[in-house]
Amino acid sequence: MLYKDLVNTYIELEKTSKRLEKTYLISEFFKSTPKDDLPVIALLIQGRLFPAWDERETGVASRLILKAINVATGVSVDSIEKRWKKTGDLGIAAEEIIKVKKQGTLFSKELTVSKVFDNLRKLPELEGKGTVDKKIQLISELLLSAKPMEARYIIRTILNELRVGVGDGSVRDAIVWAFFSKEIGFSYDKKENNFDVKDREKYNHYAEAVQHAYDLTNDFSDIVLAVKKEGLDGLKDIALKPGRPIKVMLALKVDDVKEGFEKVGKPAEVEQKYDGFRIQCHKSGNKVILYTRRLENVTNQFPDVVSYVKSNVEGDSFIIDSEAIGFSPKTKKCLPFQKISQRIRRKFQIERMVKEFPVEVNVFDVMSYNGKSLLKEPLKERRKLLEKVVREQKRKIVLAKKIVTSDPKEAEKFFQESLKEGNEGIIMKKLDSVYKPGARAGNWIKYKPVMETLDLVIVGADWGEGKRARWMSSFTVACRDDKGDFLEIGKVGTGIKEKEEQEGVSFKQLTGLLSPIIISEKGKSVKLKPKIVVEIRFEEIQKSPTYSSGYALRFPRLVRIRDDRGHDECSTLKMVEGFYKGQRK
Ligand code: ATP
Repeated sequence: MLYKDLVNTYIELEKTSKRLEKTYLISEFFKSTPKDDLPVIALLIQGRLFPAWDERETGVASRLILKAINVATGVSVDSIEKRWKKTGDLGIAAEEIIKVKKQGTLFSKELTVSKVFDNLRKLPELEGKGTVDKKIQLISELLLSAKPMEARYIIRTILNELRVGVGDGSVRDAIVWAFFSKEIGFSYDKKENNFDVKDREKYNHYAEAVQHAYDLTNDFSDIVLAVKKEGLDGLKDIALKPGRPIKVMLALKVDDVKEGFEKVGKPAEVEQKYDGFRIQCHKSGNKVILYTRRLENVTNQFPDVVSYVKSNVEGDSFIIDSEAIGFSPKTKKCLPFQKISQRIRRKFQIERMVKEFPVEVNVFDVMSYNGKSLLKEPLKERRKLLEKVVREQKRKIVLAKKIVTSDPKEAEKFFQESLKEGNEGIIMKKLDSVYKPGARAGNWIKYKPVMETLDLVIVGADWGEGKRARWMSSFTVACRDDKGDFLEIGKVGTGIKEKEEQEGVSFKQLTGLLSPIIISEKGKSVKLKPKIVVEIRFEEIQKSPTYSSGYALRFPRLVRIRDDRGHDECSTLKMVEGFYKGQRK
């Protein structure tokens, strides 16, 4: 396939901001793409050279591209730079330069998609002496044959800034529209920007199958090829592969243990909920690779975890799921997540970080073992296997603490013990549940304590939009310091009712109370006299530079108006600090 065909699609995609239209354009393009080019197109359409989870990067800085344009066109680096400054986009700068340079000349060689892809994929592989020159050569070779628009997109792809706005959801839908259009009776109305399917049920089924395959692979290349070759059946062969991350399973929230049992049934597995970060550990041969919940490769940041997995988990290949928690090297007590989170992005002085912020891996699931997918096995069997293959070592790698019970009292007791040990709460899991990647399906339930509430003063608000345009709909709340000054701590918009007849505080009621005390108005925002005190419930207090108090509330929710309190009786910064420290005990 010629690269110019892909470029034409990029141009069309860039012209529209409508998601459906973009999806349609991609689906039409998929239809016209020859089979052998499909896997590459599935990546390039999003400006990717590798799947999202692959840590390889081209390692090409703008400076090096300036040089490559210079080599390809003979235009001085200085004047390329000037054009770049003017346009703010190195891709457009290259496009303009090539337009001027090559006017009237014949383009001898037409670029193909695979030539562009092959050259660019070589960029991260280069190492050692002469790397810079080799990179310049790979890029300038393409630019020599590139038409102006081709140059624009080649350069943007190298810089990982394609700017055509194609998300995963669009590619997924485009695959369904392109390859199952007959089965689902698909049609698209460009004028109305609307699509229709004759068989909605079938459509959902196909979309789910493609999404499931993506949850397993996080790479559309294999999927698009499988579907093109064998339709829906092709997706059956898409399997887990140690080394390639899968989307993690997630939990729904409940307010008490009873509700938890209602969701997951009895008896249930009740596990401690650790306050750390998710690590998906893959082993294949002698290699261990670690991914975060967002599928970032963090293997280099956690050599300690790599060694625990290598030495304490039996098996040639596997994928296991875990939560890593930090602990103090001196007291061995748990540390809050915020303390160890810096390890995730750390690129240097890794060994020092290992010593200063050690972590313990708490394993709670296994998705694949020695070549067999365990996704469909019931949780209790997966756990049994873990108990067999993980050699526990405290403060290195252990299994998540659990009980199996039908008794709400016992579960509540376990919850309290978990809190005492410094954890966040419990996770209740259905005993015979499968592992559903990417899903918050209700087989896992999280139960965390509701924190105490704060009484805060409303100091600002935003007028709403749409049907809430008559009301103030988002409220800035503040605590007070020793001097009596009000310090902002967050914005709250939930817990407030739209309809008067519903129980609780309504937007109308708040707007009525606050309108007479507006100090100033700018755009949609108003500043208010600190007068009205409201009780706010929240899940956590975090440090934050956004608000003048230095703190922010996580998931704030308005409980009621405290008309029994004056603004000078609202919660103080000291109380906020006390809560912040106390929430970890
Ligand atoms: P969510 O992950 O549900 O989107 P969130 O990011 O606020 O919400 P939490 O509410 O803290 O996360 O709860 C889910 C997370 O708890 C999991 O993603 C996982 O990282 C962590 N976790 C801790 N202990 C366990 C456990 N025993 N089983 C499963 N997950 C656990």
